[in-house]
Amino acid sequence: MGAVTSAGAPRRTMADGTAIPVLGLGTWPLDDDGAFEVVEDALRAGYRLVDTAANYGNETGVGRAIRESDVPRDEVFLTTKLPGRQHGRSEALAGLDESLARLGLDYVDLYLIHWPVPTIGRYVETWEALVELRSQGKARSIGVSNFTPAQIDEVVERTGVVPAVNQVELHPEFSQAELRAWHHERGIVTESYSPLGPDTDVLRHPGIAEVAAAHGRTPAQAILRWHVQIGAVPIPKSADPARLRQNLAVFDFELDDVQMAVLDGVNQENRTGGDPETNVEL
Ligand code: NDP
Repeated sequence: MGAVTSAGAPRRTMADGTAIPVLGLGTWPLDDDGAFEVVEDALRAGYRLVDTAANYGNETGVGRAIRESDVPRDEVFLTTKLPGRQHGRSEALAGLDESLARLGLDYVDLYLIHWPVPTIGRYVETWEALVELRSQGKARSIGVSNFTPAQIDEVVERTGVVPAVNQVELHPEFSQAELRAWHHERGIVTESYSPLGPDTDVLRHPGIAEVAAAHGRTPAQAILRWHVQIGAVPIPKSADPARLRQNLAVFDFELDDVQMAVLDGVNQENRTGGDPETNVEL
């Protein structure tokens, strides 16, 4: 983990040499107005990583909040994602241009293929387009989301370029230990979506509540601290100003080995979102 910046989360350097904050803000399912308000407040609160996607329909609001903020553009790490309907070389090149137009910005920090959609079967060609977008400077870093190791192997074999990030569902009930280890060996950052297991009972888990109470923290804070200590980058979403701040305040305490083992033990292989092998996201 790198040095603590003046605001918010520390950063860590990725394999491609760029630095990513170790905790960020999710923006689904906020609309443009909601995203504008939440991102504006989040930047004020110290967040420096913002996660959106073409398919969230809120890039206009996210971009406006970043452009109107007092925080310099180069201190904000912005991620957006390419939808399945724009897989393919020319489609992907156009996809980022369209996102940048909605954002009102000339680059993103991280561009992800949102889902592999194997039934379309064009994610390798799409990855080649992302490599091109990186060399054009329109995306500083490129990565994937919801990819399996076999799918990552395919894109690396074709291009020699390893994704900087794989953004996947990850929370204590679906802790992805094997996938994390596989990423780690290859220098790929694991980003955790749905980090608080929103469709699970994990925020009410008695063992996690006990760990949190031992630090005078909330269960959400204990869970986010666990993400940071396993080396993942969680991107919790909150539209509530108090919870937004609470979620970032996890850098002044540490879970010990016993407490980490409690959270590690909650895993039930409980995937709540789509399966990368079958999900069709267009
Ligand atoms: P989260 O784990 O971030 O949970 C969000 C829910 O938890 C919201 O209902 C929020 O409500 C609530 N919440 C937030 N903070 C707290 C807290 N401190 N205490 C109690 N409840 C809290 O799940 P998401 O599914 O939203 O995932 C996060 C982000 O990941 C998304 O916003 C999106 O950016 C990304 N994502 C990516 C996907 C992909 O395919 N790549 C798929 C799904 C998500 P409230 O707002 O009222 O606080």
